[in-house]
Amino acid sequence: MKDKRSPSQLEALWKESDMSDGHKVDAMVMIMRTNGCCWVRNGGCTMCGYREASLSHVTEDDLLKQLEEALSRYKGEPFVKIYTSGSFLDDNEVPRSVRAKIFEAFSGCERILFESRPEFITPDTLADVPKTATIALGLESSDPEVLERSVHKGFTPDDIQRAGTLIKEHGLMVRTYLLLKPPFMTESMSIEDAVRSARFADPFSDEISVNPLNVQRGTYVERLWKRGEFRSPWIWSLIEVFRQLSGTVHSRLMSSPSGGGAARGVHNCGECDRRALDAVERFSFTQDSADLEVECGCWSQWRAYLESERMLGTPADLDRDFENELILRM
Ligand code: SF4
Ligand SMILES: [Zn+2]
Repeated sequence: MKDKRSPSQLEALWKESDMSDGHKVDAMVMIMRTNGCCWVRNGGCTMCGYREASLSHVTEDDLLKQLEEALSRYKGEPFVKIYTSGSFLDDNEVPRSVRAKIFEAFSGCERILFESRPEFITPDTLADVPKTATIALGLESSDPEVLERSVHKGFTPDDIQRAGTLIKEHGLMVRTYLLLKPPFMTESMSIEDAVRSARFADPFSDEISVNPLNVQRGTYVERLWKRGEFRSPWIWSLIEVFRQLSGTVHSRLMSSPSGGGAARGVHNCGECDRRALDAVERFSFTQDSADLEVECGCWSQWRAYLESERMLGTPADLDRDFENELILRM
């Protein structure tokens, strides 16, 4: 089917709150349509649906029109986040001359943020980047096996460590993304993995954003999920990761889960999801572990879930297996 999306229009733009220099500020988020992540040609990552947000043959002119669109909706927010469907520092996605124009357009901002795979982070590409920039790195996990087999990331934790250290040496900030519950992991394995990964990332990070896996359309993870072989993580697991890390790392801990509370996203019993997600949001700003206090009867169900998975040694969706079993018996 012919893609009707225009290459000269932004994929999305919205406003939200984030932190800059220790205080809560308004932020503008723009998602640019580009030629897409270079890694998609190699199959991409198992949970990534970003290929849906990218096109082929996006020209420099198209990108500049997207910038114009963003500027027409810009209301002087101190923080601007510029996401592409891959790496902002990849010339094939955003040519250097376009990057320079974007940097210039937002030169009055307190803070800008963009993402990049580590292979595009070099002294040469960093030379053009303004000192107000934070570069987001998708480490996902510090376990090389998890990165290779479960995420299919195409780089190693050491590559991210090298890139993060180089960014810091250039006086810029690093936001590291971790993936909570990559496929083939039980809930408790994923909690341990996220905690270990945060400790690995802490020395070269200013912020660590824990992203619970959200099942996106057209991905390998979606196939597992449809077959009942994957359950998105519990919000309790996310809270547990923060509880274990709180006060033991210098980086700001944060999470703004996409699809939270839905079957495809991080969720609890349904009754407490909003309260639990609000607690995570509060903690992301205050860093006060008291903000993580939430009560619900499903907490013990979550504990039992961890235990059953451990005993059965399977990451399959046990709730769903149980429901299917009931359906079969009916
Ligand atoms: S997660 Fe990032 S690196 Fe992986 S395919 Fe998606 S955009 Fe590319
Ligand atoms: Zn609950």
